[in-house]
Amino acid sequence: MKAFAYVNPTNEKEAVAALSPQLEQAMPIGGGQDLLARMKDYVTQPDRLVNVKGALESTVTPSRGGLRIGAAMKMVDLAEHVEVARMYPAISAAAIEVGTPQIRNQATVGGNLNQRPRCWYFRNEEFVCFKKGGNTCFSITGENQFHAILGGGPSFIVHPSSLAVPMLAYGATFRLAGPKGERQVPAADYFTLPSKNVRTENVLAPDELLTHVILPPPDDVKSGHYEVRYKASHDWPIAFATVLLSMSGSTVKNARVVMGAVAPVPWRSRPAEEALTGKPITEDTAAAAADAALQDARPLKQNAYKVQVAKVAVKRAILRAAGIEVG
Ligand SMILES: Cc1cc2nc3c(=O)[nH]c(=O)nc-3n(C[C@H](O)[C@H](O)[C@H](O)COP(=O)(O)OP(=O)(O)OC[C@H]3O[C@@H](n4cnc5c(N)ncnc54)[C@H](O)[C@@H]3O)c2cc1C
Repeated sequence: MKAFAYVNPTNEKEAVAALSPQLEQAMPIGGGQDLLARMKDYVTQPDRLVNVKGALESTVTPSRGGLRIGAAMKMVDLAEHVEVARMYPAISAAAIEVGTPQIRNQATVGGNLNQRPRCWYFRNEEFVCFKKGGNTCFSITGENQFHAILGGGPSFIVHPSSLAVPMLAYGATFRLAGPKGERQVPAADYFTLPSKNVRTENVLAPDELLTHVILPPPDDVKSGHYEVRYKASHDWPIAFATVLLSMSGSTVKNARVVMGAVAPVPWRSRPAEEALTGKPITEDTAAAAADAALQDARPLKQNAYKVQVAKVAVKRAILRAAGIEVG
């Protein structure tokens, strides 16, 4: 690993001042579960690490009928937080599935949302892909069984954060702090497609920090979260979905359908939402919405199977949101 300086700021202002406008020169570190692995693999080689755990908040506080979550909060604390589970059950459901207990004990909310893709070409120093300043995506002609089936191009990574999906579904806003002060960005605008910016996955500048996640009041929504995994633990999902339903009697008034691990960003499906609106939730309406969610899928050579897996995730998340237990 390349030698680096380590800065231990005690507040947000000091932490921001220790960053740099140059990409990957000075980088925030939370639990280090992603960043340290990339540094050991010579994929990311910063000169300076800025520890945010003593500088940013790590608590959950009430905020205008919703909740405000400090970015330094550990994933284990988020997963076990009683108010988060009561108000935003899909966030708890996603948090508890992340990695392993050891990973959740170290990882932070800010680090989870900003972790870099797991693409094996990106993670291998030998492959200088688009994301590392190169001019190709090796997955297109290479091993692409876990890559994007929606929204891909020119890079076909899938977004790695489990937390990002329910955050988008619940309409979270991210508070960012930088040298010019703070700004608030809706989660829906935070994550960006490679067609907009192929080097990064979001709008965070190199000298900015994600400091808080602000969740609006959940109102009267029912939620369902469903992940399909190759193995039960210690792995990322192959596809997953968070679904929120507002009901009017027995029919859906409004739906929010967001998928994970299928696209370079958490992928909101308006066709699926429209397919549910005005309908009662049954096996058939859930299956029709799942078909709508994947109608624009464009699989690569080895990942057509993910279309069906994602449909299962969407259908089961819908049924779960409606209180219909699934296998
Ligand atoms: C075997 C295994 C299985 C896993 N399974 C899953 C899974 O199912 N779902 C899932 O979501 N994750 C999974 N992970 C990934 C793991 O959850 C993340 O690596 C972890 O959440 C990152 O958090 P961290 O605090 O350790 O981040 P760090 O490694 O400290 O940072 C990650 C990135 O975010 C940046 N960063 C950190 N904090 C901030 C901040 N406040 N503002 C701006 N940028 C910041 C860093 O500079 C770095 O680039 C898995 C990991 C492993 C090893």
